[in-house]
Amino acid sequence: MFSDYEVVIGLEVHAELKTKTKVFCSCKNEFGSEPNSNCCPVCVGMPGALPVLSKEAVFLTIKAGLTIGSQISPLAVFERKNYFYPDLAKAYQISQLEKPICVGGGIKLKSGKNIRINRIHLEEDAGKLIHKSEVIGTFIDYNRGGVPLIEMVTEPDISSAEEAVEFLTKYRRNLIFASVADCKMQEGGMRCDVNLSVRKKGDKKLGTRTEMKNLNSFKSVQRAITYEAKRQIEELEKGNAIRQETRKWDDNKNRSFTMRSKEEAEDYRYFPDPDLLPVRISEKTITKAKAELPELSEQKRERYVREFSLPKYDAEILTNELDTALLFEEASRLTNMPKQVSNFIMTYVLAKKKERDNLSVFDVISADNLAYIIKAISTNELTRPNALMLFDMVCFTDKDAKSEAVKSGFISKLSEAELESVVDFLIEQNAQAVKDYKLNQVKVENFFMGQLMKQTKGKADVNKGRTLINEKLQKYKN
Ligand SMILES: [Zn+2]
Repeated sequence: MFSDYEVVIGLEVHAELKTKTKVFCSCKNEFGSEPNSNCCPVCVGMPGALPVLSKEAVFLTIKAGLTIGSQISPLAVFERKNYFYPDLAKAYQISQLEKPICVGGGIKLKSGKNIRINRIHLEEDAGKLIHKSEVIGTFIDYNRGGVPLIEMVTEPDISSAEEAVEFLTKYRRNLIFASVADCKMQEGGMRCDVNLSVRKKGDKKLGTRTEMKNLNSFKSVQRAITYEAKRQIEELEKGNAIRQETRKWDDNKNRSFTMRSKEEAEDYRYFPDPDLLPVRISEKTITKAKAELPELSEQKRERYVREFSLPKYDAEILTNELDTALLFEEASRLTNMPKQVSNFIMTYVLAKKKERDNLSVFDVISADNLAYIIKAISTNELTRPNALMLFDMVCFTDKDAKSEAVKSGFISKLSEAELESVVDFLIEQNAQAVKDYKLNQVKVENFFMGQLMKQTKGKADVNKGRTLINEKLQKYKN
């Protein structure tokens, strides 16, 4: 029965902007401070306090729009969205309805399908309610109240959980690469509402939709969509109607349930905020935002292939996250060995990163240490096994790789004379191998290389050792 239906999904995605201050006052925009320490009369809604719009927040919203090809409105208006909830002290949220800052745009999926974007508007975040099981009652932390939030709204162009996740991944990446937002999902820096309806294939009319609020991981988005689509189809098959409502997704129970009947824009009695003038956005500002917009993930991907001749596969992995791209670029600049850097990051650094949650590759290793290790391998200052051991030792620490290598005796310190005496000793000790040299030169040379490394505990210079062994064995060739 499921194959008779199609799923229609629209997303509303909230992201907290990376500004220094809140959007209508000069309080710090900072996560994790002492509760209610970043507050003032404006952001807790004291009578008589007046909002002053942050230019930085408007500018970052423009940049966010540019990453997805939005038109920037020459005139933007802030409106009051009226509702009461304890996390919103004023009983209205300053938001935008009729004239948002960014209009239109789109994101192309791998399949070539374009997901159209309706708008991005700027608004203020609400405070946070904290429930503790050991205490009766609710705590309120207003630090988040007034933090600038952009809400991006798509057209209902998404038709599956997979498409939704791909779209969100790309949008999130754009905001991070453009330095507009950090989008730390675990800190609530990015939250997503899913509007979903189903209809019989071929139907022109959209079905009744439900909205699932505040999904804070891509996994929740995926599971919530799968669950809700199935639920709606089953209801329709039973002959029941879908109620337009807001539903709450419970990640632990893996199901959604009714929260309240869905409200419409008019229920909020939006009206232009009399405390804030309409905002004029000049061509000059837009040009400046365009000029400042850094390279995004896809641009970096293309450049890595073009400039460093990396395989597309490497380029894609390196540009999935901004920090990985930056580590690659910096270590490549220091070593001039982009392919080796790419290999090392993909094989070792990313594997290490996976061991611990929510860390950046820069927490795994600094560009300087990575560059040192890669150069040391290529010049044979370190053997590969020692280099990897060194990598393990300096991971997740502030230690300097070079000093650690010296301290641990990893660096080959054998003088040429010492190296020669070891090779002479080995030739003397292994008469049978010397005899076999005329039968299989490569095999015997490899045997002596192995013995040399064993005897010197890996401290011999590989190239010098090999040359020396080859020279010494010449006389046994015939
Ligand atoms: Zn404030």
